[in-house]
Amino acid sequence: MSPIDRDESSRFVGRRHFLLGAAGLAVATGLGGLSRVARAQAAPAAGPFSLMKLPYADNALDPVISSNTIGFHYGKHHKGYVDNLNKLVAGTDLADKSLAKVVAATAGNAEKVAIFNNAAQVWNHDFYWMSLKPGGGGEPPAELAKLMEASFGSVAACKDELKKAALGQFGSGWAWLAMDGGKLVVVKTGNADNPTTKGMKPLLTIDVWEHAYYLDYQNKRADYVQAVLDKLVNWGFAAKNLA
Ligand code: MN
Repeated sequence: MSPIDRDESSRFVGRRHFLLGAAGLAVATGLGGLSRVARAQAAPAAGPFSLMKLPYADNALDPVISSNTIGFHYGKHHKGYVDNLNKLVAGTDLADKSLAKVVAATAGNAEKVAIFNNAAQVWNHDFYWMSLKPGGGGEPPAELAKLMEASFGSVAACKDELKKAALGQFGSGWAWLAMDGGKLVVVKTGNADNPTTKGMKPLLTIDVWEHAYYLDYQNKRADYVQAVLDKLVNWGFAAKNLA
């Protein structure tokens, strides 16, 4: 499922949570032992956009990404972007649009920069969690491996380019594998920006904001990126996004 499709379903879930708000709140308050992540998921969404459900348990990426990092990154940062976006679009014509359409409609508009930043950060984080999986890494599916060889010479060279982009991004941002026309490219973007704003089709991303790795790796961004590429990267998700 592409993130754009997921966006439609997450908006649906958001409305359901809204309708079932009282019941959801009763469940949330009755389970004091829930993890930070589960509490975030149980909370009713006050707006059209909702926090996606993580595709794995909050400790499933251990030890590369700890449940402590997930608790803050997903449960606080990602949730914060969703909450801010809901507040910012309330009562505007953007409230009825899909997440991808909000990103496209606000990109490059100086008056809508706060909406763009929060919408794109929700989109980017949805895409990031899907770009990882427990027991990831390894060899990409054949179709993707062929494209990597055609564009970079080898799978290893493509991974090196991703690592270079992730380490070369000055300050907060993202490293991406993307399709630009018929060609596979590696790009980096700053802050909330993503390759869709330049007409590219993202296949995979690595979050290189410090909140993605600081609790586990402190200043060693290279160790985080290498471990993600070796052990968590979800090449199957990237290959599916080729379709
Ligand atoms: Mn992040």
